[in-house]
Amino acid sequence: MVRRNRGAIRDIAIERMEILFKLGIEAVKNGYTDLAKRYGELLIRISMRNRVKIPKEIKRWICKQCHTIMVPGFNARVRTRRDGKVLRVVTKCLSCGWIHRYQFVVRRGSGRS
Ligand SMILES: [Zn+2]
Repeated sequence: MVRRNRGAIRDIAIERMEILFKLGIEAVKNGYTDLAKRYGELLIRISMRNRVKIPKEIKRWICKQCHTIMVPGFNARVRTRRDGKVLRVVTKCLSCGWIHRYQFVVRRGSGRS
């Protein structure tokens, strides 16, 4: 099989991931957490099969442990804390209890972690 247009494959994969992500959010809001997990798993599968990275804005909201799509206020808790130049964000998946911490440096120049 010849892949003529890699860019197109990538675009389609990303589009599909975005659709799944939106469906996942709707599912969570409607109480279908099992479905949200299924969408999350599908999203990861699309990413792997097409060797396309999950967009950052989406990846942040997929639980690394149970693969569910996390929606703050529904099945996830998000806390932010400003510590000088650093903004700390803690996301907790309420389905499995997985905690993800990451931080941003608000102002550039002082290095990343
Ligand atoms: Zn989880």
